[in-house]
Amino acid sequence: MAEAAYRLGDLIDDYCPRCRLLLNHAVASLVENNVVKVICQTCYSEHPYLHGKGGKKKRPSRRATLFDQVLSKVSPSAAPAAESAQDSPDDPKKKRPSAEARYISRHKSKPRRKG
Ligand SMILES: [Zn+2]
Repeated sequence: MAEAAYRLGDLIDDYCPRCRLLLNHAVASLVENNVVKVICQTCYSEHPYLHGKGGKKKRPSRRATLFDQVLSKVSPSAAPAAESAQDSPDDPKKKRPSAEARYISRHKSKPRRKG
């Protein structure tokens, strides 16, 4: 890691896990010219130097895995369920009094009888 030579107390930009933002940080500890710990100048919390990348890497991966888990569970059952809901009703109790059946019966009963 050949970064610019920092001194203790230098202000550098880093990702603050507490503020969840890229903010000014003061160098708190150095090891061979490498920033090891920084202090957030906004919340004054000390945390290891994250090189401005912070939790960004972890978050997407977490979300991705969660999405994958959810999708894997949902996708196989969701698609056929949506189709079957329209074609063949899951609960016949609700669909029985359908408008179509009534209209058909009305039309058939409507024609006046002769005689
Ligand atoms: Zn902070």
